Amino acid sequence: MGGACETEKLMLTNDRIPLSLEFFPPKTPEGAEKLRGVRQQLYTLQPEFCSVTFGAGGSTQEGTFNAVREILAEGVSAASHFSCIGATKDTVRTQLATLKAMGVKRLVALRGDLPSGYGAGGEFHYASDLVAFIRAETGDDFHIEVAAYPEVHPQAKSPASDLQAFATKVKAGADSAITQYFYNADAYFRFQDEVDALGITVPVVPGIMPITSSTQLMRFSDACGAEIPRWIRLRLQSFGDDTASIKAFGLDVVTDLCEQLRAGGAPAIHFYTMNQSAPTLALCERLGLLSRCTQPADPIMEAIPPWGGGLREVAMVTIGKP
Ligand code: FAD
Repeated sequence: MGGACETEKLMLTNDRIPLSLEFFPPKTPEGAEKLRGVRQQLYTLQPEFCSVTFGAGGSTQEGTFNAVREILAEGVSAASHFSCIGATKDTVRTQLATLKAMGVKRLVALRGDLPSGYGAGGEFHYASDLVAFIRAETGDDFHIEVAAYPEVHPQAKSPASDLQAFATKVKAGADSAITQYFYNADAYFRFQDEVDALGITVPVVPGIMPITSSTQLMRFSDACGAEIPRWIRLRLQSFGDDTASIKAFGLDVVTDLCEQLRAGGAPAIHFYTMNQSAPTLALCERLGLLSRCTQPADPIMEAIPPWGGGLREVAMVTIGKP
């Protein structure tokens, strides 16, 4: 590589759709350090917010809140996931006060799943109870996201009752929703049609899980009820341990999915990053949201069609050295 270009970089293009990014709380100091680097790389995408998951029963509360604090300190909007199963009104009240004091403005309000062997207990049965409680206790202090299931939550009595449960969460005060991941765009569009038919107008943002590992994906999907279409499952299995082929195939499949979702009017995309930067950056590059830059490395100012308005500084990330 010659001339003034000393590093290859990724930078935002003008082709924008609002994005959000999900992380889980790291368990070790090394994991926390690695996640800081991952976040810096992903901030190139200028996410609307970054969210951090919350172990049901409050098991990860400290790690979740620490990660949320760091994201806020990095100048990025942060959402704390917040699950209520097994919780009491008093514990939730205390946690809400902590989040408010931290400057958190956005929550992803969930029921959660307790590990088997734990009795449910607690004073909240469903996420809708939590949403109603947060609204009653804190008014409009928080933007509240809830979960949505285009392929139907695994414990739902029926698709109709699950849709009704979603409507109840919105009626209780949810501002927007993020879906469970899926690989069949029709499931999302049909769900959106049903939501529209009920007169529900909150944005339903598709949750996107990049495919990087066959076994991990099968394990997650069995647990959360996300369907892996037979043609995807069989091809993934046929690659065996060939991770390069799994990643290349996964990138093709998920890029197509995101393109269908954008073309069909999805309001934004939420990436389940799994605390890795490369899969999400590769997807965004394929979607035309990022381009490789061969210019000198100084940050530049560039006009971008405003989601929030005005000129925005385009951060750049080093992805390789000559
Ligand atoms: P709910 O909306 O309460 O629904 C749970 C089940 O109860 C559904 O089957 C629904 O149909 C049914 N139901 C709801 N209301 C009623 C009613 N009134 N009568 C009868 N049935 C009803 N889990 C975590 O532990 N931590 C996280 O950080 C986390 N983040 C997530 C983020 C997203 C975007 C998504 C999609 C899921 C996440 N989960 C997380 C997983 C989630 O906790 C599980 O899917 C859980 O099983 C359901 O949570 P919910 O908030 O959707 O529950």
